[in-house]
Amino acid sequence: MRFLELANTYDQIESKTGRLEITGILSELFKKASPEEIDKIIYLTQGSIAPPHKNIEVGMGEKFVEEAIRVASGLRTIKIVEDEYKKTGDIGKAAENIMSKKTQESLSSNILTVGMVFDSFMKIAHTSGVGSQDTKIRILIKLLNSAEPLEARYLVRFPLGRLRLGVGDPTILDALSFYRKGDKSIREELERAYNLSNDLGLVAKTLFENPDKIIDFKMSVFSPVRPALAERLSSAEEIIEKIGKCAVEAKYDGFRCQVHKRGNKIEIFSRKLEPMAGMFPEIVEAASKYIAAEEAIFEGEAIAFNELTGEYRPFQLTIQRKRKYGIEEMSQVFPLKLFAFDLLFRDGTDYTKQPYKARREALSKSIIENKTIAVSDSITTDDPAELQTYFEDCIGRGLEGVIAKDLEAPYVAGARKFAWIKLKRSYKAELADTLDLVILGYYYGKGKRTKFAFGGLLCGVYDDEAGVYRTIAKIGSGFSEEQMVELELTLKQISEKEKPRQVDSLLEADVWVEPKYVITVAADEITRSPMHTCGRGKTGYALRFPRMIHGIRADKGPEDSTTVNEVVELYGKQRKVTVE
Ligand code: ATP
Repeated sequence: MRFLELANTYDQIESKTGRLEITGILSELFKKASPEEIDKIIYLTQGSIAPPHKNIEVGMGEKFVEEAIRVASGLRTIKIVEDEYKKTGDIGKAAENIMSKKTQESLSSNILTVGMVFDSFMKIAHTSGVGSQDTKIRILIKLLNSAEPLEARYLVRFPLGRLRLGVGDPTILDALSFYRKGDKSIREELERAYNLSNDLGLVAKTLFENPDKIIDFKMSVFSPVRPALAERLSSAEEIIEKIGKCAVEAKYDGFRCQVHKRGNKIEIFSRKLEPMAGMFPEIVEAASKYIAAEEAIFEGEAIAFNELTGEYRPFQLTIQRKRKYGIEEMSQVFPLKLFAFDLLFRDGTDYTKQPYKARREALSKSIIENKTIAVSDSITTDDPAELQTYFEDCIGRGLEGVIAKDLEAPYVAGARKFAWIKLKRSYKAELADTLDLVILGYYYGKGKRTKFAFGGLLCGVYDDEAGVYRTIAKIGSGFSEEQMVELELTLKQISEKEKPRQVDSLLEADVWVEPKYVITVAADEITRSPMHTCGRGKTGYALRFPRMIHGIRADKGPEDSTTVNEVVELYGKQRKVTVE
């Protein structure tokens, strides 16, 4: 496929707002792709060249991209490129405008194909060391020499990570489901394959090569599985009423680890499915020694733990283990303990389809007792009073609460289901639980805060049905001075000239940003409000007295934020509490 076709499609998508329209455009594009190129098209459409967990970025500095544009357009000085960039505020538009004025046709002019562009980006990503910047610039110049102005617009956005089409994973899945089996849609099967691999390129390639393999898609070691998530209820009684006799596990407040093992090779994926084995040497060592399987995928929560006193360290301390430097020293000072809570795969057997109790039994049998990995603490009960006592016992031991698990439920990858129900301490307070909100924009400071350019945040939640972010709160408190400075610096880098397409807001922010970062927010109450777009009817929902209680969450992406449906549910529960 010509790259121009992709560029034309992206151009069309940029002018549309409705998810249905975008799905239609994408599915027309996909229909024209061959099995050899469909995965590349998908990764490119995601603004990348590989699934997110592989951490492969095209990556070039802005100055180098400007230099490539200068050379390719035959300009003598960089100033014209810089000025055009300033004027348009978008490196892509700048490249397009400059290239369209280019008079002299380059001699090496080729027709660009998707394959050529993809391979060149791959080369840029893998070039490192001395002189690598020159090599990267040369590769980009070569592409630009063969590019039409519209192609140039997109070519320069990739190395800067700024494609930003705003096409979410659910939209890509919808677009792929033009493919039907007889008269049956295979959207569900596609989603399952995606949840088991976190790799839309692989899912699409499998579909194009042999659709039967999608129906029978298998997970594989070192491809992360999208995590199962918990619903919430507000009392032990409600939990027992909902799922009856259940397992109740301690809820550890650390970070989720999905451990993949083949022989001595270990990878650990975070909740966001980023590879992090390098940060946790003690878990890697224990997993290679004490897991009785050649191949396995299992999950647990890692928490800094004092073996001598049996004390769980607070989250603020555990989080310090997420670091780039001083890893060995910190692993000695604050060693982690992994409390394993689920088994997904072992030596060729997919456990996700088996009921919780079978998975738990197999998990226990797979772990040889040691000081770094243990099976999570749990009881089994159908008695609300016993559940409540266990919950209080967990809180007393410094844990976050409990997670009740349906004994008969399979592991549902990538979904928040009542198979797991969390009960936390704050539930009986006014507002059950904190919310994880996406930062959509920010405000400049007023009054005594004017010495900071930063004054507050406009935040939203994710509408997973429409694939957009809807506003729920303006947040002006909970930040320390350092946090304000840091937030402003971080957000500036992802600022947008206009409200991003995937943001639905009635309010204006002083500065809009790409929906990327998630913060944790507490509030007194959820109220109805016509100012905000979070909601399903005419009146939205808003937070009363919102305050940030945790800065940017490294472990959550924008689509992992609280959803509109969850807000509606929380609102319902809150009302019930007041009536009672
Ligand atoms: P939270 O911010 O409350 O941890 P979350 O959105 O990360 O929520 P939830 O689905 O609400 O995820 O709660 C499940 C999380 O709890 C898991 O992602 C995991 O990190 C953590 N956890 C701690 N102990 C357990 C356990 N025994 N079983 C399952 N998950 C556990």
